Amino acid sequence: MIKSVCVYCGSSVNVDDTFKKASKDLGVIMAQENLRLVFGGGHVGLMGIVSDAVLENGGEVIGIIPDHIAEKEIAHSGLTELHVVETMHERKQMMVDRSDAFIIMPGGLGTMDEFFEIFTWWQLGLHDKPIIIINVEGYWTPLLSMLDNIIDHKFARTDDRDYLCVIDGVDEVIQALARAPQEKISAQTKWI
Ligand code: AMP
Repeated sequence: MIKSVCVYCGSSVNVDDTFKKASKDLGVIMAQENLRLVFGGGHVGLMGIVSDAVLENGGEVIGIIPDHIAEKEIAHSGLTELHVVETMHERKQMMVDRSDAFIIMPGGLGTMDEFFEIFTWWQLGLHDKPIIIINVEGYWTPLLSMLDNIIDHKFARTDDRDYLCVIDGVDEVIQALARAPQEKISAQTKWI
């Protein structure tokens, strides 16, 4: 049963309106579907937009922010819960522990880091939670091509790529959460 969903997305404010609109729509859908948002706790960029949209539509939001960037990312003051932790590692671990699924929206280096971390943690058998990539306006297509290249060169398995649920827009997110793979990789799985 998926109740809390972690959304990884960009903190930049200077991005295309399409990404801002998709973030707002995602927040509205999450609130309507009673999905609690878990996110990085910042009131900036797409992170701020998704969290505001969930709250404005009556949903719950848990933010987790390290104190050394709480000022830079303007810790959101109106959340259901805000956890100020000491390190980025604590933040990332808590975001994973408090979530039943992960959504990747357009973002920058931090979002990429977070995506690869939860993807590799799945590959290592550390969790079995769904991972949804929302490929808004094809933003993540180069990343998906890179993954295909990695697989073509046998540095990862097709099964790894297949664990990801990739959708084109936020309107597909509820069906994606219902159908996304949710399985623990076996410790016996041949690595490659
Ligand atoms: P970005 O996608 O770069 O805008 O960052 C999105 C979120 O990821 C922000 O809340 C950043 O604090 C966070 N972030 C940035 N760098 C890292 C990192 N190396 N590890 C984990 N999170 C990061």
